[in-house]
Amino acid sequence: MELSNPAVVRDLLAKYGLAPKKGYGQNFLINPRIPAEIAEVSRGYVPDDCPAGVLEIGPGVGSLTQRLAEEYDRVVAVEIDRGLIPLLSESLAEHDNVRVVEADFMKLDLPAFLDEHFGDLIRGGGTVSVCANLPYYITSPVLMKLLEAFPPERPVPFGSIVVMIQREVAQRLAAQAGQADYGAITAQIALRCRTEKRIDVSPGNFLPPPKVSSAVIALIPHGGIREVYPDAPGDDEDCRAFAERVSDLIELAFGQRRKTLVNALSGKYPKEKTAAALEACSHRPDIRGERLSAGDFCRLADALNK
Ligand code: SAM
Repeated sequence: MELSNPAVVRDLLAKYGLAPKKGYGQNFLINPRIPAEIAEVSRGYVPDDCPAGVLEIGPGVGSLTQRLAEEYDRVVAVEIDRGLIPLLSESLAEHDNVRVVEADFMKLDLPAFLDEHFGDLIRGGGTVSVCANLPYYITSPVLMKLLEAFPPERPVPFGSIVVMIQREVAQRLAAQAGQADYGAITAQIALRCRTEKRIDVSPGNFLPPPKVSSAVIALIPHGGIREVYPDAPGDDEDCRAFAERVSDLIELAFGQRRKTLVNALSGKYPKEKTAAALEACSHRPDIRGERLSAGDFCRLADALNK
């Protein structure tokens, strides 16, 4: 079934007595070029010669799912909206490598879910990617769940995470320390992944059109926190505790972004202690958190703990 234009998508929804639900962030892609490009970007991060699976969050009516089914050996698509499940059976009927699971992604036990649906593929030397046109109301929680469900001292077990999100958020995720868009989530993600902004997508490509512009961004997992900060503890347990301290520090630093770090952290660390730690890391005493890279936050967390 070709989900190539607004009339086809509208008719299909009507056939199942559905209309796009705002509460679930339902803006369906109606320009077939866009899902094809997103699926190609996603597959581009996977070597040709290994079994490849992909986890899709929110298949909607199945536009991106269809293209992913052409690029990957296996697609597992998690959809929260029960009403869409019978519709997806129809729109994906020609693709026998797709499984649709009715579930709230935020409530999944992700490691157990991956093992259940991709365990055989992973044990056979395959890789799993994540690809989605995300519901914008939960972009950051979804991304943090994808990263934080796994231990920080190892690579996040995805070949890549390629997602369409609000363009402003994409710019934030791709920003460098010191740039205006740089924020807590940028630093949190940099502890686990490098980021590449890929495609801009305008509102006219969706039904209904969202109020904001969109962009596709790729998060490519690196080796974990020890790649960002080689002095992180060698013991895995200690490394996890250290990563937690770094995350807390990032949240504190950006919780009061206009304040200097000495003031922003003062609820937790005495000002003299922060000033001394900053000096030990060769930073000015009046520096703000927005100038620190993920590695800088690691170094500071270490200095504060001494
Ligand atoms: N992939 C489709 C496309 O590109 O046309 C639909 C994308 S639409 C922006 C987001 C989809 O995510 C919707 O189908 C929505 O029902 C689903 N969704 C929203 N919250 C979800 C959640 N917590 N878990 C799983 N799916 C969710």
